[in-house]
Amino acid sequence: MYNHHINTTLKERSRYLSCINLIQIVIYLWCLSPLTLWSQTVSERSLPAFHYSYLITQSELRQHIQILASDSLEGRGFGTMGSYKAGDYIAANLKSSNIIPIGDRETYFQPVVLNRWNRGKNIFEVTSHKESANDVLTPGIDFTYSLTEIPSVLKLSGDHYMFAGYGIEDKNYNDYTYIQARGEVLLMLDGEPTIGSMNLISQSSSRSDWSNNLNKKIALAAQKGARAVFLIVDSTRFNKVNPTVFNKASVYAEQLSNKYPIPVIRINEQALSRMFSKKEFKRFIKLKQGVQKGKVSSNYIIGKFNLDLSLSSTIVRDRNVVGIIKGNDAHLKDEYIVLSAHFDHLGTQNGEIYNGADDNATGTSALIAVAKALNALSSNGYPLKRSVLFLFCTGEESGLLGSKYFVKHPLVPLKDIKTDINIDMIGRSDDLHSENENYVYVIGSDKINPLLDKTLKENNALSVAYNLDYTYNDINHPLKLYYRSDHYSFAEKGIPSVFLFGGFHEDYHMASDDVDFINFKKVEDLSRLIYFTTIGMANHDGKIKTEYNE
Ligand SMILES: [Zn+2]
Repeated sequence: MYNHHINTTLKERSRYLSCINLIQIVIYLWCLSPLTLWSQTVSERSLPAFHYSYLITQSELRQHIQILASDSLEGRGFGTMGSYKAGDYIAANLKSSNIIPIGDRETYFQPVVLNRWNRGKNIFEVTSHKESANDVLTPGIDFTYSLTEIPSVLKLSGDHYMFAGYGIEDKNYNDYTYIQARGEVLLMLDGEPTIGSMNLISQSSSRSDWSNNLNKKIALAAQKGARAVFLIVDSTRFNKVNPTVFNKASVYAEQLSNKYPIPVIRINEQALSRMFSKKEFKRFIKLKQGVQKGKVSSNYIIGKFNLDLSLSSTIVRDRNVVGIIKGNDAHLKDEYIVLSAHFDHLGTQNGEIYNGADDNATGTSALIAVAKALNALSSNGYPLKRSVLFLFCTGEESGLLGSKYFVKHPLVPLKDIKTDINIDMIGRSDDLHSENENYVYVIGSDKINPLLDKTLKENNALSVAYNLDYTYNDINHPLKLYYRSDHYSFAEKGIPSVFLFGGFHEDYHMASDDVDFINFKKVEDLSRLIYFTTIGMANHDGKIKTEYNE
């Protein structure tokens, strides 16, 4: 019913007042009542805000979600045609809502250009004995390495390894006492020596940094002049990966930066007997048993190897979709409140389309609707103080790629971004809330600046009065949600951020995440909550403190 009046301006106040609903009457009466100056200000502002909030409708949201989650968008996989179509659809909606484009060449698009790094050549030949034939170790089963732990080309060969115990140099214990590491490929054990239940280094039951921080060992080996480290991992802890999956794994990055100063290859302890002759293997076991008990036993071990690895890369292009509504306060208009939602999903796998209706056609649609309502509010005489930046992220499912790219190549100065409100999966409910679906998980809002949490709570109370559930807000929660959506790219830069999330369900990341299961009323309610919270942050009178450091 409110659709009918959405284009009226507040100049036609009499007509407008005739159609306000109960909530609006309450707000209106509150506005007239002798409350504090503070609540006067809030309610006077709230009235037009309430009026334009009714531009956010279930029917519009349903239409957006149906289109974004339709098979023709092929699951919106990063870098695919489906993702481009989704981007075009979002941009067309921003255009019809008169959102200002701030992308490349006055478009709504920020090109996101990354390399997709894959394993290319993957050869590890070993010869245990002069006379024996070459044996080939299987990647993923006998050895592994992460794409960020080796250079893009790695060739290593030799006729011996240098066993460097645990690779520790400490006042109680030093694996480098009897060996020269310069120019050597070091064989090194994971962990640290223990005597009974006591760790030799820490002289207590707790493990030292030598166990907890691999970089400490690798940096030391590099400083000693070693060429590379072959880290021996106990076969019960070695993470076996099917070789096909192992070879397919990829990382998206502009350039791959190495985690460690020298290459690290992890070797499944079970493979060692194939790398040495029987005699050398026996010797190795003795050396190992020595160091495990804290007796320094580093030594030279004979065994030929030829390692030949290379990474291959292909360029992948996609786009973030970006636009702004300009604020009009002389002092605050160059500050930004970012609203973000990822529009990509998992694409098509083995012929099945992953439509990602909840994840995250819902959040994307919410943002489209909120942009439209905020622009109507702003252009009908109620401009916001700060500017609002809409960021529709690509590549979230492949590792927050779009938002990471945005903060690396920001279209407005990062120091001027005062908040990010991120929306990911808001159209379903989890089993814990089957009694009352009017809830949302709130993650991160109180971390960098509590103002965001306060503003969210106030605006929730004044609008949809949802149950705000902080279960996942703990950064140590085992599911680590604080790190798992695009708000984190901003939080990492010290920008106050919140992630609004509806909860996990049985279709999460399944091809069955379809429109049929979406609770459109919930998407509408939460879109309104986002709309009001954005207004609250954009119109906040004081400074919004961030922890941003250039
Ligand atoms: Zn997802």
